[in-house]
Amino acid sequence: MNATLLDRLRAELEQRRATAGLRRDLVVSGAQGPTLGVGGEPLVNFASNDYLGLAGDPEVLDSAQEALRDLGLGVAAGRVLCGTRTVHSELEAGIAELVGAEDAVLYSSCFDANLGVFDALLGPDDVILSDALNHASLIDGIRLAQARRRVFAHADLDELERCLADSAEARHRLIVTDGVFSMDGDVVALPQVSELARRYDAALLVDDSHATGVLGATGAGTAEHFGLKGRIDVLTGTLGKALGGGAGGFVAGSRAVVETLRQVSRPYIFTNAMVPALAVAALTAIRIARGRPELRERLAANTSWLRGELRDLGYEVLPGEHPIIPVMLRGGTLARDVAAALRREGVLVFALSHPVVPAGEERIRVQVSASHTAEHLERAAAAFGRVRTALAGS
Ligand SMILES: *Cc1c(COP(=O)(O)O)cnc(C)c1O
Repeated sequence: MNATLLDRLRAELEQRRATAGLRRDLVVSGAQGPTLGVGGEPLVNFASNDYLGLAGDPEVLDSAQEALRDLGLGVAAGRVLCGTRTVHSELEAGIAELVGAEDAVLYSSCFDANLGVFDALLGPDDVILSDALNHASLIDGIRLAQARRRVFAHADLDELERCLADSAEARHRLIVTDGVFSMDGDVVALPQVSELARRYDAALLVDDSHATGVLGATGAGTAEHFGLKGRIDVLTGTLGKALGGGAGGFVAGSRAVVETLRQVSRPYIFTNAMVPALAVAALTAIRIARGRPELRERLAANTSWLRGELRDLGYEVLPGEHPIIPVMLRGGTLARDVAAALRREGVLVFALSHPVVPAGEERIRVQVSASHTAEHLERAAAAFGRVRTALAGS
């Protein structure tokens, strides 16, 4: 191994250890669910994106097992060679129907979808207008494209409009935003953003990863939540959160958009096709997400109960309705200390600290699921209560 490279990496790791600290993955035993085995102790899990609890749904798992038996593990080929199976096409149709688009195309992940969409659709004469808090995969995908990039302050419609007004020379403008932002759990002001897009003849791309399956009467996402289902030009999303928590991403939109991606999008063309059993599982998850609105009702009731309890305990909770509940614990290592204390109380949550969020905006992110029972929720509230008391006494 080259000593010059190794020496530099070791020095940088040492620097990182001394300043921000090194990340250490939490190693979990057993399956995803409302509780997780960590070091033998089951913790009540408020840290996964399994909003509808479908990762452990028996129908989802049975369908995947059957597909694994019938179709095998992997296809050892890309989609454009001999990797495409009937179930891939069925899943693409299922996604398009869920979100109200003409068509959809699968990727290995939403990260891949976001890496592959911008360069394929835009060129150097185009301008991308991107929210400052957009997901890392959107930021990277935009960097890979030849279009020029303008970043507007998070949710700042006035700045977005100024950017639109002074990019009139562009061939196309594309507004890019998360549907639900993962740090604050806030939902994009879609009616206003769509209206700006219409007025300035711009296209709109929404990454709905935290909203697909979760928001809207049938789980179609942010657009359905606002009565605008099917009106987003380009929608990207994941199968790794509410829709079973497996893996996979997609882009949905007009036939011309999807066909263009199939022809030229590099992370679609130059990678292995999705494991067919995963596609089958996602298709089952979509059917359940659409057909059982009571899962979203339970999720909303669980979220609203826990939000209320945390507020009553005196915690600063950012307002909102999404199952992401940001509990603000500003300054220093408070958020990290509280997360550690909660873990000792049997509740798994993660602290978000600088530089993931700005200094002074440190928080714990609590993520609620329809699979949480009253007992899980009460255990969380009681643990937050005891930690609050200990904080007040110290
Ligand atoms: C989780 C997430 C992704 C990544 O999705 P994967 O399918 O896990 O790659 C992309 N965008 C947003 C907004 C996300 O929240």
